[in-house]
Amino acid sequence: MEGYKNVCYLIHFDKPIGGSKAQHYIGFTTDLEKRVASHRATTGSGLTGRANFLGISWKVVRVWRDADTNSEKALKRFGGVNLCPICSKYRRRSSLVEVNTERSENEMVY
Ligand SMILES: [Zn+2]
Repeated sequence: MEGYKNVCYLIHFDKPIGGSKAQHYIGFTTDLEKRVASHRATTGSGLTGRANFLGISWKVVRVWRDADTNSEKALKRFGGVNLCPICSKYRRRSSLVEVNTERSENEMVY
C-alpha cells in the first residue's frame, strides 16, 4: 500500500446527491484505505454518507499521491467534473503524481 499515504482522491457518484447537483467529492487523506472505509461506513452526514443513505453507489476514480491540503485546494479549483474520467473526456492533468487506479483496483477494495 506504499504510495497511498498523503493522497488526494476523487470520488464519482452514480447520481447527483439529493437536491444538490454534487456528483463528485475531492478529498485529502493521510490514509486512503481508512478514509474510504469510513466513507463507506457513514450514513446520513456528508456527501458519501448521504449517498450511502440514498443507495447511490460511488467509487474512487482518481488518486494523486504525495499530496497535501494545497493540492486538494488546487484540484477543487479544477472541479471534480473536469477531473472525472467518467464525466469528462478530457482528463485534466495537474502537477501531482497520479496513481493508476485502474491497475491497482484489484489490490484496493472500494
Ligand atoms: Zn464523474
